Amino acid sequence: MPASFQCELQTALTAVRQAAIVCRSVQSAITTESLAKKDKSPVTVADFASQAIICRRLQLDFPNDPVIGEEGAAELRLPSGAEFLNRVVRECAAVGVAASATEVCDWIDLGQTSEYHPRFWTLDPIDGTKGFLRKEQYAISLALLINGQIEVGVLGCPNMPFANKPDGTGVLAWAVRGYGAWMQPLSEPDASPTRINVTQVSKTADMRFCESVESGHSSHDWSGLIASELGIQLEPIRMDSQCKYLAVARGDADLYLRLPTRKGYQEKIWDHAGGVLIVEEAGGKVTDIYGNLPDFRHGSSLTHNEGMVVTNGLAHNAVTAAIKIHAPAEKPGSTVNG
Ligand code: AMP
Ligand code: MG
Repeated sequence: MPASFQCELQTALTAVRQAAIVCRSVQSAITTESLAKKDKSPVTVADFASQAIICRRLQLDFPNDPVIGEEGAAELRLPSGAEFLNRVVRECAAVGVAASATEVCDWIDLGQTSEYHPRFWTLDPIDGTKGFLRKEQYAISLALLINGQIEVGVLGCPNMPFANKPDGTGVLAWAVRGYGAWMQPLSEPDASPTRINVTQVSKTADMRFCESVESGHSSHDWSGLIASELGIQLEPIRMDSQCKYLAVARGDADLYLRLPTRKGYQEKIWDHAGGVLIVEEAGGKVTDIYGNLPDFRHGSSLTHNEGMVVTNGLAHNAVTAAIKIHAPAEKPGSTVNG
């Protein structure tokens, strides 16, 4: 077991396991009716409860560490948010975290750090909200960064299959810089961890890539051109969330392409940090579409990067070259904010 960051890792694993219980419970209550109404409230209740539980645990164990998380409690604190907040409080209580509404809001807002700190955590309490609602893939992502370097990365993937275990076992994956990447069945904290590694496929034509289900998050047209350029025959694996990083890290896929759909969108650090370290420690490589390393020193967004390219490390340059060849011509006035 790694000597460095051992306490941080144990805290992060405990926190993500507990948050996953809440997410699973909320997800199991989603009905076709709520989906038909396009009711986003299940995901929101789970988002807030997951962030509250993880920030609470971080505060107990590392009270000086700030968190940059996706959610904030401002709307929950309004009178109009009271009923909703009660649902979040109930979900926390159901996993043994009994607290007042104010305490829950305060924990959520621990994730609202905006000023620069050399050491901080970044958290996506539910990455892949669309997958969560469809009862497909989603992830809970938590990472510790120090001076822009990811030191600990954890992904809870409640719906990912685990080897020969029954469906729904889920995967908890993690890495500490320098100590490899590991996974374990999500609800079996005492199971021996399994080391994970990227594939050794080096011929691009034999590679399988994964990408977002949502064409609004990653261009499917562009990836199709790149796949042809590289001679890739296999159909892409479309999957929501940072489960795609896990897919590359443990060899379900050789590549993960995240190709900007529009100018101006800035990737968020919590959508990547957990997954990046796990892939790197599994032997893979992560850069943006221009081949630049992800730069986590600029607050909540990856302002110095565009898109993301995740590979087993063996054909990274060939992939970024194909991306360049097929880069769409920029249309005048195509810049969109947000
Ligand atoms: P995925 O599950 O791969 O589709 O990615 C989900 C994440 O995409 C969400 O957590 C959002 O933060 C992020 N996202 C939202 N809009 C965009 C966009 N236009 N381009 C790329 N990512 C986006
Ligand atoms: Mg996300």
